[in-house]
Amino acid sequence: MKSSQQKLYGGIEAGGTKFVCAVGTGPGDVKAIDTFTTVSPESTLPRVVEFFRKETRTEPIAALGIASFGPLDLNPESTKYGRIISTPKPDWSGIDLPGYFRDKLSVPVFLDTDVNGAALAENTWGAARDVNSVVYITVGTGIGGGGIINGQLLRGISHPEMGHIRIPHDYNEDPFPGSCPYHGDCLEGLASGTAIQKRWGKLPEKIPAGHTAWKLEAKYLALAVVDYIYTLAPQRIVIGGGIMKTDGLLAEVREKVVELLHGYGSFPEVTEDIAEYIVRPGLGDLSGVLGAMTLARKSAEK
Ligand code: ZN
Repeated sequence: MKSSQQKLYGGIEAGGTKFVCAVGTGPGDVKAIDTFTTVSPESTLPRVVEFFRKETRTEPIAALGIASFGPLDLNPESTKYGRIISTPKPDWSGIDLPGYFRDKLSVPVFLDTDVNGAALAENTWGAARDVNSVVYITVGTGIGGGGIINGQLLRGISHPEMGHIRIPHDYNEDPFPGSCPYHGDCLEGLASGTAIQKRWGKLPEKIPAGHTAWKLEAKYLALAVVDYIYTLAPQRIVIGGGIMKTDGLLAEVREKVVELLHGYGSFPEVTEDIAEYIVRPGLGDLSGVLGAMTLARKSAEK
């Protein structure tokens, strides 16, 4: 009989553009990993099932974790529990990912958001493994945030939607009305890759470092980070996603956060050592799928 540390777990990072699937025990021990483009459920999901059937033929997985894009219904009392709620991807609305994989693979399946998954992985193995409260933010085509406070994944009536908070928007400085289909100028509407592209008329990767675009971006992200600090008081903030790979952006966000806190609050860790407080993911682009695997392990061990 193997100890629980050696059991194999499956993880799926279900994203709007791709599904990343892996089998293993942790970051140093990924037995198999593959990526499938997110097309329609009918075309993508059977390929994922095929991957797990093939990779677990000799040794089964003890459980499967899914870290998914959303919004998700995570209320255990709800009849729609586990389903993806209305999303801009119409084919995927109402899809019950845990039910589907439980049925096809006959293993226990656990679900959380992609960003809560990434927070869990960073907290277990990555850039926040020495703390028990962390907020994870991803800034890509959209913006999402999840977290763990006092060792517990953030969940309440549902999962947080940190990308859709309202931040001050100075129309004189930035006349762009925002790109969020629900709110216009929420954080995602002002600072996501989609917003940057619409505002400046070019892809974010084509905008050079030092351009005004990045000063504005740093300001918006810092305003949001300050809100997360004041409301959740996390011990660390991890920021990932494609947009954060822009040269100099993270440094500018850090600087702006200290400026916006303006000396208020008992956060010496933040103001004195901001570079250790707001950090990049320790697991790089694998936070999501490793988070899904960790979700499977922790939930199965409960
Ligand atoms: Zn919004």
